[in-house]
Amino acid sequence: MSSSGPPLVAGIEAGGTKFNVVVGTSHEDIRARARINTTNPKETIGEVVKFLLGCKRRFGPVSAFGIGSFGPLDLDPKSRTYGFITSTPKKGWQHFDFVTALAAYARLPTGFDTDVNAAALGEYSWGEGIGADPLVYITVGTGVGGGAILNGQPLHGLVHPEMGHIHVPAPPSGEVLFANCQCPYHKSCLEGYVCGPAIAARWGVRTDRIPDDHPAVEDTAATLAHGLANIILTLSPRKIILGGGVMKMRGLLPQVRSHLVKVLNGYVTAPAILHDIDRYVVAPGLGDDSGVAGAIALAIRALHKA
Ligand code: ZN
Repeated sequence: MSSSGPPLVAGIEAGGTKFNVVVGTSHEDIRARARINTTNPKETIGEVVKFLLGCKRRFGPVSAFGIGSFGPLDLDPKSRTYGFITSTPKKGWQHFDFVTALAAYARLPTGFDTDVNAAALGEYSWGEGIGADPLVYITVGTGVGGGAILNGQPLHGLVHPEMGHIHVPAPPSGEVLFANCQCPYHKSCLEGYVCGPAIAARWGVRTDRIPDDHPAVEDTAATLAHGLANIILTLSPRKIILGGGVMKMRGLLPQVRSHLVKVLNGYVTAPAILHDIDRYVVAPGLGDDSGVAGAIALAIRALHKA
């Protein structure tokens, strides 16, 4: 079963509605993948282990795990609750010891990070983010989140960045539609205005049914542009990647770019923004695979560290 090639690892993208699990040696060599519904931890991890056991019979054992998870998470290796999902609103997953749950299957080097840091790392390793450092990856979907790569490493800190909750002006349609921020914690944050459910509530239509000439497109773009401007002014990323289901709204990405240039208003004079915005704010190079690719990269990094 063993070979002298690069080591086989398992990558887990843990989302609030589904887990994507892959086994391979890199994003370019994924041998098997599974999509598992997120129910309760016992059942979901049980399904992950079942898949990994099947892969073990076919390809041999994996050497490391990489997990990119919904959060919030404890990423501090010195903390007693390192490897936990912490205060998530997701029922049954509060204070779940993710890393230890996998160690019960096999004690292996395990990379653990947020879903968005993993997606950033996936794009940095194999996608649109190659050579871009700092790199920011934002997902706009059921929620809004951001991950970053800084000096080649996923950005942590006190906890980890929560870019979805930066404060932005209300969408231009706000007064007309009496659309409030939908975030239970904040009165005017990015996620509360532009996550899929917020857009659907404001306009009464699902984001995948919005045509590109609908006013919701520009309204969403204008608000997202304020969020991106804040991030550019804070982290000075060399590239921003926008993923997630809402970004599949037709016509949204080009409008985000043009609004972003307007919001920055010539203050940041980098040619990347003034002349090359189409290559500065981009869609993921790996499509919907940024997260699983990042989970593989986390596993490979954990293995090298061990
Ligand atoms: Zn918020």
